[in-house]
Amino acid sequence: MWKMEKEAINTDQEEQQIFSKILVQMFCLSCAFFKETDNLYEMLHVTPPMSSPDPLRQCAALTNETGYLNVNKHTLQHVTFPNVFGIGDCTSVPTSKTAAAVAGQFGVMKRNLSLVMGGASPKHQYDGYTSCPLVTGYNKCILAEFDMDGNPLETFPINQAKERRTMFHLKKDMMPTMYWNGMLNLSCPRERTVPYDSNVA
Ligand SMILES: Cc1cc2nc3c(=O)[nH]c(=O)nc-3n(C[C@H](O)[C@H](O)[C@H](O)COP(=O)(O)OP(=O)(O)OC[C@H]3O[C@@H](n4cnc5c(N)ncnc54)[C@H](O)[C@@H]3O)c2cc1C
Repeated sequence: MWKMEKEAINTDQEEQQIFSKILVQMFCLSCAFFKETDNLYEMLHVTPPMSSPDPLRQCAALTNETGYLNVNKHTLQHVTFPNVFGIGDCTSVPTSKTAAAVAGQFGVMKRNLSLVMGGASPKHQYDGYTSCPLVTGYNKCILAEFDMDGNPLETFPINQAKERRTMFHLKKDMMPTMYWNGMLNLSCPRERTVPYDSNVA
């Protein structure tokens, strides 16, 4: 739903999205050359290619074919080495890589790691939660919250697909406090744990 409204907003603003192209050169602040095309623009938002850190990528035993730490996306336990767990951007978990996802994964990893250290098996499962506050203006924002399959996993009992001033202030004024006081001291307000079902692919 939020995706549909976001697409409508893009259309209103005549925004053009170019995916999987490599930016070669920007010219005269209005024209960008990509590998197979060139485009005029008024505002350009470029995302650099993403990868895991070199020392990890160079350790083939730990990583998958794309160089990310190869963990079970539910339990966050390494698929080969049971004493290795991973959370965050460097892992193979196929969720959109955000700090919100890290917060959601942390509690699952902590609980499963404790179980494994005590000789038991992982019992907790990450539900795939991730979140992107999509700032769509100087005072409005869509809080997109979804799982690793793109299904909405929303927090508030309101239509989160709408651009809202409240979400803008949540992003601008409250999230920094949540980050510095909640996440960095590991109190982890967004733990996303469900019971682990080993039959789920
Ligand atoms: C512009 C931007 C905006 C974003 N906005 C949001 C947002 O609004 N909401 C949200 O939830 N997320 C957002 N994110 C994503 C979020 O920042 C990341 O998902 C999050 O920081 C990942 O945390 P991490 O700990 O996994 O990795 P990182 O934060 O990348 O931490 C990895 C750390 O490891 C260190 N490191 C790397 N190699 C080595 C090595 N060899 N030895 C020792 N240390 C090493 C790095 O220096 C770094 O400090 C944004 C990201 C960007 C770039």
